[in-house]
Amino acid sequence: MKLYSTNNKDLRISFKDAVFNSMPQDKGLYMPVEIPQLDADFIENIENYSLPEIAYKVASALLKDEIPAEDLKALIDDAINFEAPAVKLDNKTFALELFHGPSLAFKDFGARFMSRVMAYFLKDGEQLLDVLVATSGDTGGAVALGFLGVPNTRVTILYPEGKVSPIQELQLTTNGQNIRAIEVKGTFDDCQALVKQAFADAELNAKFRLTSANSINISRLIPQTFYYFNTYAQLKRQGLNDVIFSVPSGNFGNIGAGLLAYKLGLPVKQFIAATNINDTVPRFLASGVYEAKPSTQTYSNAMDVGAPSNWVRIMDLFNNNVEELKQIVTSYRFNDEETLAGIKEIDSKFDYVACPHTAIAYLAIEQFRNENPEDESAAVFLSTAHACKFPDIFPVDIAAKIEIPEQVSALAGKPKQAEQLDVDFDGFKRYLLEMS
Ligand SMILES: *Cc1c(COP(=O)(O)O)cnc(C)c1O
Repeated sequence: MKLYSTNNKDLRISFKDAVFNSMPQDKGLYMPVEIPQLDADFIENIENYSLPEIAYKVASALLKDEIPAEDLKALIDDAINFEAPAVKLDNKTFALELFHGPSLAFKDFGARFMSRVMAYFLKDGEQLLDVLVATSGDTGGAVALGFLGVPNTRVTILYPEGKVSPIQELQLTTNGQNIRAIEVKGTFDDCQALVKQAFADAELNAKFRLTSANSINISRLIPQTFYYFNTYAQLKRQGLNDVIFSVPSGNFGNIGAGLLAYKLGLPVKQFIAATNINDTVPRFLASGVYEAKPSTQTYSNAMDVGAPSNWVRIMDLFNNNVEELKQIVTSYRFNDEETLAGIKEIDSKFDYVACPHTAIAYLAIEQFRNENPEDESAAVFLSTAHACKFPDIFPVDIAAKIEIPEQVSALAGKPKQAEQLDVDFDGFKRYLLEMS
């Protein structure tokens, strides 16, 4: 597999280098030079394949000989070791539950695959890989739990004091082993600034092999294609061939992976990009004008993104042809009041508790069906996180129905291990140097 930069299509770089660089120097994003077509026979018979088998088919088509077959199979079996069931709510409506991994959010697919790819490329004797990550909640948990126990890696997470939910804090601070947490007396932006400064610091770079593991890493995108294929397989087993996916979107990595799956040959009728009021993409598809904005806080805070970082990837997949893109992607936005109404409607109609991000994807399906009454496709909304991660959003009667998964109950009572630091780069640097 060779990759180019969206800002320099002549560039050629290996998968390994793209994984460790995360982002090209020219600030574009890495994209595969070749997007192969999966063989028609595989798609025709996909219902006979399991999730790990599908994952291997897709990954090997993309990666080619970057990782030998047996190693890639073992890596996938280790990374994708949980289910992604499409739960049937009615004959044509499904919730694709992507929250059965360790951090209870779909980001586990990307983080677990990335951590194992990195460990694979860090052959014996290579310098320890130091992953620095700032988090407002969800990403840190996925990265921490994704790297937990992975040899030759160490993760340092910075999170803002008092600004992550109790479950998120447990996921960040109770791991031990190769994971350490720093509770910063400041905001998420302060955490991010400290991490950025560390990456720019000559002394730290001389001493440590630093990497960011952030969400634009190509090794996080690839595993997110797996569950689109696997969902198609699940629906095909029920005799449903026409499928629409509705994806709650923030940085547009998740739907970007869906569109990559489509370009790889997955027959999807329509994608719906569902956002909250941070609606840069719905505005762009309506007006043709792309205008990023500062983000506004909402109930669906993992989607509070005003300048979606993966959007250039999607434009690149479609060669900047907006008309072609609009044939396959519809986009809607919903505010907090609508989100809450959506949560209540899913509860009363289906006795199903959806997290606020998921509820937005559901509402988008309803709107699509209202606007396209002739369309009979089965509709799948992606359920990106477990409701228990956002306890404050729900009315009490719905909150009472939320079951706490064992991943979380196992954390309760474990002692919190976090270093407290002020927003002070010198203090952060001293910590890194002294604690190594
Ligand atoms: C990260 C996240 C999203 C947004 O996904 P993108 O790939 O950034 O579009 C949606 N829902 C939840 C729960 C998330 O954690």
